[in-house]
Amino acid sequence: MNRKTFIRTGMLLVPIPLFGNIKKETIMLDTAIIGGASAGLAAAMTLGRSARKAIVFDTAEPRNRPAAHAHNFLTQDGTPPSEILAIGRRQLQQYPSVQIEQDKVISATKSGVHFRLETASGKQITARSIILATGVKDILPDIEGVEKLWGNRVVHCPYCHGWEMRNQPVAIIANGEDALHLVPMVHNLNKDIVILTNGKSTIPEKLPVPVIEKNIRRMEEEGEGIKITFADGSTLLKAGAYLRVAGLRFHTALAEQLGCELTEAGSVKVDAMYQTTVPNVFAAGDVSHPGHHQVSMAVAGGHMAGAACNRVLCVEDFERLK
Ligand SMILES: Cc1cc2nc3c(=O)[nH]c(=O)nc-3n(C[C@H](O)[C@H](O)[C@H](O)COP(=O)(O)OP(=O)(O)OC[C@H]3O[C@@H](n4cnc5c(N)ncnc54)[C@H](O)[C@@H]3O)c2cc1C
Repeated sequence: MNRKTFIRTGMLLVPIPLFGNIKKETIMLDTAIIGGASAGLAAAMTLGRSARKAIVFDTAEPRNRPAAHAHNFLTQDGTPPSEILAIGRRQLQQYPSVQIEQDKVISATKSGVHFRLETASGKQITARSIILATGVKDILPDIEGVEKLWGNRVVHCPYCHGWEMRNQPVAIIANGEDALHLVPMVHNLNKDIVILTNGKSTIPEKLPVPVIEKNIRRMEEEGEGIKITFADGSTLLKAGAYLRVAGLRFHTALAEQLGCELTEAGSVKVDAMYQTTVPNVFAAGDVSHPGHHQVSMAVAGGHMAGAACNRVLCVEDFERLK
């Protein structure tokens, strides 16, 4: 059999022989996992350890890839995100019923009691269950240069990067309730703070920290820190900045295509066992909850979705014996 999977070296996916090569014909699997980062690989491990025939499709765009290091993940604090995923993929190799493919799932639909998936490269998969682990994308504000600094000198989360920025002068680029939410947590680690509302302030109360309401034109590296240039040409030097993103977006419309209900906050609605509103479709990781997005939470969700999915399949198989 032509066995094949991918190992991540840095951000490069290198094919290695391992499992049945999927061609353009339809094959039947227990589970198709869409998204192969923290949540998807964790689900794959639980299913692999249950001898489930599962495939993971991944387009290698995990949300934290701009960050040099991942933090607040026990046993891997400070490890580059790509290395954490490479370890996960390496450990999955001991479960031969799991295959990892670098490919984008472009459609997922219900076909009788099963699900039919199609990928960008033309593969067709039929699976008894699906785990959506596709994560979310950050929508950065329209500020020149911000993308280059994102994840390192401009960060979003005190738990991920706060310790590294502690006791340094920082800006908080946020407005309204978002600013109100973020300021006390940043103040816990940094006393030299300025809030940049990037336009007229909508912060609902007066805060004991300075607020600058000017529009921001550009952000760039300056020595060990960053330079922020406002629309009026004035500048501000800081060690770094916290930024509240303009929004989060799904990578794909697969959840909607499958008929999964979304929550008011826009994530895929799941129950306590990570099952969506469509039976046999599970969702885990950032796509399945609106807040406190963390690698550890994605891993926990992935394991739970994998276990719940396996349980459903076990019961289906056992019922046939009756
Ligand atoms: C800049 C930044 C830094 C962060 N740092 C930290 C940190 O230090 N510590 C921490 O705990 N958390 C951190 N986070 C949060 C963390 O990145 C997320 O909580 C975590 O990545 C969620 O994992 P996930 O598996 O749900 O989604 P993701 O990691 O986003 O992975 C989703 C995967 O699905 C793939 N995919 C999407 N659509 C398809 C498709 N149609 N077909 C195939 N594959 C698809 C994507 O390419 C991607 O590989 C950070 C976030 C950001 C933005």
